[in-house]
Amino acid sequence: MIRVSTVADLRGSLAEASADRTPLGFVPTMGALHRGHLSLVERARRRADLVVMSIFVNPRQFGPNEDFARYPRPIEQDEQMAADSGVDVLFTPRASEIFPVTQGVTISSGDAARRWEGEVRPGHFDGMLTVVAKLFNLVRPDFAVFGQKDLQQAALVAAMVRDLNMPLGIVIAPTVRESDGLAMSSRNRLLAPADREKARVLSRALSAARSLFSDGERDPRAIESAGRAVLAGEPAVLPDYFAVVDRTTLEPAMRDSPGDWAVITAARVGATRLIDNMLLGDSDGD
Ligand code: AMP
Repeated sequence: MIRVSTVADLRGSLAEASADRTPLGFVPTMGALHRGHLSLVERARRRADLVVMSIFVNPRQFGPNEDFARYPRPIEQDEQMAADSGVDVLFTPRASEIFPVTQGVTISSGDAARRWEGEVRPGHFDGMLTVVAKLFNLVRPDFAVFGQKDLQQAALVAAMVRDLNMPLGIVIAPTVRESDGLAMSSRNRLLAPADREKARVLSRALSAARSLFSDGERDPRAIESAGRAVLAGEPAVLPDYFAVVDRTTLEPAMRDSPGDWAVITAARVGATRLIDNMLLGDSDGD
């Protein structure tokens, strides 16, 4: 594996490596790698001759009172994990390399970014899409792999690629979970042990919603109530939202227009904010 940290070195290594190796698959991350990230690499390797991963804790997608400073950055361990999982080129730029100008042209994320994470974290999706668009232009992948774990993010990236006619495919890979159901996340490392235990309620509430749907319930509000009741059993977990949505548009699901639904949630557990979701009605779960 080659590790590069500047745009010039990235371009140089890709020009060399990718001449006779296509397709090129890309896995953008913020590091603190876990098995969820590695599953994306595995997914990319199935189709790609060359796999590029980026690790960049993007300052523009964090609000002023969010966890940018305490976001974990175990870069040496990440480098080893990336190499072991079969990444060919690891790109680890500094913020000044990606954003040499402070007030440049940016991507505006549109209507699908108004709700849920976009409402709680104003500016988050504009910052995320701007950096993803820049990374796509630098790496020029044939396809990029994103996790369903961040469903709204994946939907917005797919919408950006569609709306701006970007020449690549977007692959969405299922959520990898701990054995007790908690979705793997770099932020799980920030949980105190007692909070780690309480955080299990998120996947329990989503599973309850999914079971109700499997049993035939088609009233989204009834499904939401059942899930919220499970969440309420853990009063130290403070939900921002728990909602049944269309999994592509992220609009609230409507009883009389059944489509492909997902149930999404976000909650604060101690000082850490976690998000999770499950697809409704899929035999392969989430
Ligand atoms: P992050 O480093 O948290 O920005 O995540 C980088 C990519 O990994 C995103 O596409 C995430 O959706 C994906 N990802 C994060 N956690 C998981 C997980 N538990 N399972 C699958 N993909 C994940």
